[in-house]
Amino acid sequence: MLSSRVHKISAGVACLVAAFAGATVSTAADADSTGAPTYKEFEASTYVDVDGAYVVNGDEAISTKGDLKKFYERLVGPESSPVDGLIVNTVNGVDDKWSASQVANLTYCVSTKFGTRHDDIVAAMSAGAGLWEAASSKIDFVYVPAQDGKCTTRNNSILFSVEPVATTQYIARAFFPSTPKRQRNVLVDDSIWTSGTWEPGDILGHELGHTLGFRHEHTRPEAGTCFEDNNWRPLTPYDSSSIMHYPQCNGGSADLEFQASDAAGARALYGS
Ligand SMILES: [Zn+2]
Repeated sequence: MLSSRVHKISAGVACLVAAFAGATVSTAADADSTGAPTYKEFEASTYVDVDGAYVVNGDEAISTKGDLKKFYERLVGPESSPVDGLIVNTVNGVDDKWSASQVANLTYCVSTKFGTRHDDIVAAMSAGAGLWEAASSKIDFVYVPAQDGKCTTRNNSILFSVEPVATTQYIARAFFPSTPKRQRNVLVDDSIWTSGTWEPGDILGHELGHTLGFRHEHTRPEAGTCFEDNNWRPLTPYDSSSIMHYPQCNGGSADLEFQASDAAGARALYGS
């Protein structure tokens, strides 16, 4: 059970990364005799971002070695009972979400380091944020252009920063509400402009879904592939076309598009 479960995780990560960026990923993670990677092997095979964050599950950041160890222990630990039925991340069994006052004021800047693409990123962020804001009147992403010139995780005038990155590992990556401030950024690679049928606003809509606490829909057992872990709680019935479901993971649609189920999940977590 352990080895097949870990193998599925490794395959899941590889499939996201491959489909997302055309990159290959080390298979060292499932190379030892039991099939389960040791923590050292797992850490060695995990991509480390420009700012020192570990990237897991394709586009999710983990800040510290201690948190990576906890993530690993949840992966290889006893499987909790599978649950059926958008899904919210849980930390020690508790929903990973913003308070009512914070979700009504999710402030962000867009780094001037995007250069000639700055205004395009501003527009794509607005489109992505608008998907969730239209679903729930409780959710409000607030763009603060005055902070764009010093738009980093160290800027305490905003909740999170949107910054450029150059990587072959992903198109964009985000964080969860429980992520500490020093790692709370959305990083965007130039490949966002050349991602086929995926609209930049939808890609950032997916990333902003993570920032609200939503996990990849394809980790649910119904997807049959790309399993990540069981640290989540269902908010709606499974939807293979959810904006949080990678199309390449047995998705019901080739496009990353916002669905009625995503809106229902956002209302279930934060209210209408
Ligand atoms: Zn994602």
